[in-house]
Amino acid sequence: MAPKINPIPRPVLRPPMPKPPAPKPPAPEPTPAPKPPAPEPCPREPSPKLRKQWEEQNQRPWPKDPQTGRNQDVSHKKPLADGGDNSPDNIEPLPHADHVNQHKSNRDFSRWGDEVQIRIKDINTD
Ligand SMILES: [Zn+2]
Repeated sequence: MAPKINPIPRPVLRPPMPKPPAPKPPAPEPTPAPKPPAPEPCPREPSPKLRKQWEEQNQRPWPKDPQTGRNQDVSHKKPLADGGDNSPDNIEPLPHADHVNQHKSNRDFSRWGDEVQIRIKDINTD
């Protein structure tokens, strides 16, 4: 009697393992919103330019300071530091002493600090 040959065991076919879900791509870093620029006072225009604009609007020459014979100060009716601009409507000629006194009476120096005093001193040099 011929020996019984064991059939070669067939490999059991298993259904393929389900693939693990693909890792999600990392969420993109939220780009930080650009910071809004800090509110800055309107940059000061050079006095000669402001005087010229004022002269064109008012059709008369920029007045001189009778005490010094030099151009009067370029005074901003509403200071740039308080949100004023450089338009001729916001500009007025003032003798230097009056200009400084105006700021003093508005207590601008104490509100703004020493930096303004330096700027005021330099006003007639530009
Ligand atoms: Zn001023």
